[in-house]
Amino acid sequence: PESLARAESLIRTIPDYPEPGVLFRDITPLLADASALRDCIDALIEPFAGTFDVVAGIEARGFLLAGAAATVAGVGLIPIRKAGKLPRPAAAVSYALEYGTATIEAHDDITAGMRVLLLDDVLATGGTLAAGHELVAHLGGEVVGTAVLMELEALGGRALVPDTHSVFVA
Ligand code: 5GP
Repeated sequence: PESLARAESLIRTIPDYPEPGVLFRDITPLLADASALRDCIDALIEPFAGTFDVVAGIEARGFLLAGAAATVAGVGLIPIRKAGKLPRPAAAVSYALEYGTATIEAHDDITAGMRVLLLDDVLATGGTLAAGHELVAHLGGEVVGTAVLMELEALGGRALVPDTHSVFVA
């Protein structure tokens, strides 16, 4: 639809950030626009209506989407954080980055049988969302789906998280 095309046009592409050769997709102009934000939140969660008990957002930009999505959907929100930020993490999962590794953590507010919709802003290589899956499963939760605002198709992340719903594909 036209309103989503307008929202997509608000995503800014920044060359050579955070390092030379990378085309960074900056969603902040989209977030700043009331109707683009609302249309994107609706499109992000629409395929999963009624199937999830909670949304989990991945630090940091996933938090921004998850906060809005949780309120719109009428569910709670679980922050999945980078290592060392939570006062009492119940589970941690490490995953490979291009250089080195990263770790994400969550509290045991994700409980057995809880149906979780995992959200992040961008799907690139897929490592982050795949680790998010593992983390939720570790706590006994059930990932009912993963959704991102934008998928960077050339990076092939879909291979790791095949059922991801992408509002935009670049
Ligand atoms: P992946 O693990 O899929 O390679 O990387 C995804 C993570 O890196 C996401 O948490 C996302 O926020 C971040 N990321 C990677 N590339 C971009 C980008 O071009 N734009 C934005 N906004 N985030 C990115």
